[in-house]
Amino acid sequence: MDFAFTPEQEAFRREARAWLAAHVPKAPLPSMDTAEGFAAHREWEKTLHDGGYAMVSWPVEYGGRGCNLIEWLIFEEEYWGAGAPGRVNQNGIFLLGPTLMEFGTPEQKARYLPRMARSEEVWAQGWSEPNAGSDMAAIRTSARVDGDHYVLNGQKTWCSRAAFADWIFCLVRTDPKSERHKGLSFILVPLDTPGVRVRPIPQLDGETGFAEVFFDDARVPRGNRLGPEHEGWKIAMATAGFERGLMLRSPARFQATARRLRSLWKTRGADPALRDTVARAWMDAEAYSLSTYATASRLLAGGRIGAEASLNKIFWSEMDVKMHETALALLGTDAGLVPPAAPPEAAGWLDGFLFALAGPIYAGTNEIQRNVIAERVLGLPRE
Ligand SMILES: Cc1cc2nc3c(=O)[nH]c(=O)nc-3n(C[C@H](O)[C@H](O)[C@H](O)COP(=O)(O)OP(=O)(O)OC[C@H]3O[C@@H](n4cnc5c(N)ncnc54)[C@H](O)[C@@H]3O)c2cc1C
Repeated sequence: MDFAFTPEQEAFRREARAWLAAHVPKAPLPSMDTAEGFAAHREWEKTLHDGGYAMVSWPVEYGGRGCNLIEWLIFEEEYWGAGAPGRVNQNGIFLLGPTLMEFGTPEQKARYLPRMARSEEVWAQGWSEPNAGSDMAAIRTSARVDGDHYVLNGQKTWCSRAAFADWIFCLVRTDPKSERHKGLSFILVPLDTPGVRVRPIPQLDGETGFAEVFFDDARVPRGNRLGPEHEGWKIAMATAGFERGLMLRSPARFQATARRLRSLWKTRGADPALRDTVARAWMDAEAYSLSTYATASRLLAGGRIGAEASLNKIFWSEMDVKMHETALALLGTDAGLVPPAAPPEAAGWLDGFLFALAGPIYAGTNEIQRNVIAERVLGLPRE
């Protein structure tokens, strides 16, 4: 085991750090769950792309930099360390992108990946339905074959950023006689297709982070299917593996939170009662980073992400909640204040806490991840 970086990796880190120092917006962008913030984040993605940093681990021909996963982790450390904006196209670049690389035809890769890297096309994820969340195999949205097209009918819900996105990748039932995991297909749908209606869902704060998407006889070319017909479940599970196991939440994000937490603890008088909790948060973030480097090394050696991705997802989501709870405890009643009454060190913690609470729900709830670990990692009986 070698924990050191190579001279080339160190050089890449310095180069990325310098570029980010010169380009990261000085003031935070407005929330990406508003029309204005979404547009500003899309612009930032174009800046990243022009600098060659949109998705460093992708092949150059698709708009990447040809780096390996270790270099991607290094870039993420620099990215979060520089306080750069959240990635508005995360469903595309972190979830659909790797899935397309594995299952897409050469034509599909050439069609979708470069536009995704430039965020000319921002993606939403259309899996959940009103009666198919944890139980995703209960999906009922149908896609009937009609000549060269599928005709879609049904409803998706909780689609992050779909209120403003351009495309959505969906899991739909292509075999009407099928049940559960069988007979599903993975289909890419432009959100401006006639018969597709997007209804934003306002959140507690009034912003529209989600949307419901309705399909009423929406016609989509059959060529928009990713992978074989009726075998969408296998492809969706690969996407979920990238989501839970590696890409969606890189360790650098939590290491940055742990650094902010340590500095908050010092600013708020270094309360000895919370010292161990703050130290624990730091150690957890470091442990998560080491474990992710181990996963990346395993993948580089030809390994694959499997059910153990569920362990990862539980770890980062629960760590995030804990870190934010600790911050709120340090801030006390100041946590609820808004500018100009709020002290500067309170900025972002309450919003971060509210979002952290969603971590144990999205990407598959932690209860479901515990079921997966019990059955598929530990081999315990199903009931
Ligand atoms: C911030 C956020 C972003 C999201 N973004 C998207 C998105 O972009 N696209 C998308 O398709 N979906 C998205 N979702 C939806 C998310 O995937 C679902 O909320 C999640 O899968 C749970 O489904 P549900 O809400 O229907 O809850 P339910 O499935 O109804 O579950 C309710 C409760 O019962 C528990 N439960 C259910 N079944 C079991 C079981 N067998 N064993 C033990 N406990 C069980 C669950 O853990 C949960 O606590 C998002 C959700 C959030 C919070």
